[in-house]
Amino acid sequence: MKKTGLISPGSDGLLGAEDLGKTVALLRAGEPVALPSETVYGLAANALEPEACAKIFSAKDRPFYDPLICHLPSPDFLGEFAFSCPLAERLAQAFWPGPLTMVLPKRAMIPDLVTAGLPDVALRCSAHPVFQQVVSACGFPLAAPSANRFGRVSPTAASHVLAELNGRIALVVDGGACGYGLESTIVRVAGEHLEVLRPGPILVEELEKYAPVLQPEDLRSAPGNLPSHYAPATPLSILEKDAGPAFAAKREEGKRLGLLAWEGKSEGRWEKIEKLSETLDLREAGHRFYSALRELDAAGLDAICAEALPETGLGATIMQRLRKAAHHG
Ligand code: AMP
Ligand code: MG
Repeated sequence: MKKTGLISPGSDGLLGAEDLGKTVALLRAGEPVALPSETVYGLAANALEPEACAKIFSAKDRPFYDPLICHLPSPDFLGEFAFSCPLAERLAQAFWPGPLTMVLPKRAMIPDLVTAGLPDVALRCSAHPVFQQVVSACGFPLAAPSANRFGRVSPTAASHVLAELNGRIALVVDGGACGYGLESTIVRVAGEHLEVLRPGPILVEELEKYAPVLQPEDLRSAPGNLPSHYAPATPLSILEKDAGPAFAAKREEGKRLGLLAWEGKSEGRWEKIEKLSETLDLREAGHRFYSALRELDAAGLDAICAEALPETGLGATIMQRLRKAAHHG
């Protein structure tokens, strides 16, 4: 068991020289380090070193069939690690650095372990100043999936990373709460059109300005797209409008229930309520979503009920996460 260190940026929002040196030295030595990003915390390792990436899989208990997203220091590196195309270049110019991941044919230096043996690689460029600082200093791309154990709630604060991976990794860099709080949008760039593999903070409406967007109903073929994901240990169900009697029955059995609230209108004797946004702001709801889920999960409840959000804009992204978090089995 490793002792997990914790370091923080200074008042300028960047790591000091000594802490940056320590972080980069660990990554150069093939040790994974948890880093803040604008989406969720990532567990980063040298994307060009299979042994370093293997440590990501073991720290997360992640199966090898689930490929890793690689983070570049700047959009300029796109063509170095993937076979790019004019559409990918336009998207990189429009959305990078930012929460858009592009899937493109990989170049040979990307190890098969990173792509789960697939011919494509998923690339992104983070807008978080600390992530940028570290990946730029490293001189190699960083493979960085979310810094949680496989299938569990994604971490949006350093304390969440410690709750998931304490003793399993050498270092967590604490960059505060993640801005978006939701994982990146993933698109496959296929010739002149785009295919959304995972909804995220960059909305389909924004992507459609650049190319026709396919949103396959059935994403079972997308790697790592499992029915259950982002799940708390406490059973979670989404409150349907006609679910009243079922939950009343649960209350009669003396169950301790928590509510993940949107409008907060669901009747019930809730032991604990976490409201996503007092002002019904979807961006705030995304920012708070995983930490609210984590708070409820830590409250010793028998079950968590979640109110459905409107499926427009970011609401659709949050509902996609919620459905997977509620899927059992
Ligand atoms: P995360 O664990 O949030 O970093 O997300 C990783 C996800 O990105 C995987 O579960 C896949 O769904 C997707 N992904 C990564 N690499 C690829 C790839 N080469 N092709 C398609 N999807 C990918
Ligand atoms: Mg993840």
